Amino acid sequence: MQSKKSFAAVNYEICNPGKCNPEEGRCVAVQACSHKVLKQLDGVFESPMIFQDLCMGCQDCIEACPLDAVYMKHIGS
Ligand code: SF4
Ligand code: SF4
Repeated sequence: MQSKKSFAAVNYEICNPGKCNPEEGRCVAVQACSHKVLKQLDGVFESPMIFQDLCMGCQDCIEACPLDAVYMKHIGS
């Protein structure tokens, strides 16, 4: 049986809320995720976490991130 899943992941080497939003430190990818799967758990100016099990793979966060720090991961066979 085939089981494929795509979900978003953050490249923490690129992600920098102080750079993409220097005034407020808010992640615009978090704001773009209507499924509330991305969260800045440690507050503003901290990189977001993705609850990958809940990710719908819509890619809205990828389009929103100005630094291209969010990408899709594909698992399964
Ligand atoms: S994921 Fe993108 S938009 Fe969000 S804090 Fe990181 S660089 Fe900024
Ligand atoms: S791919 Fe869609 S559901 Fe998943 S974290 Fe990004 S915006 Fe949210």
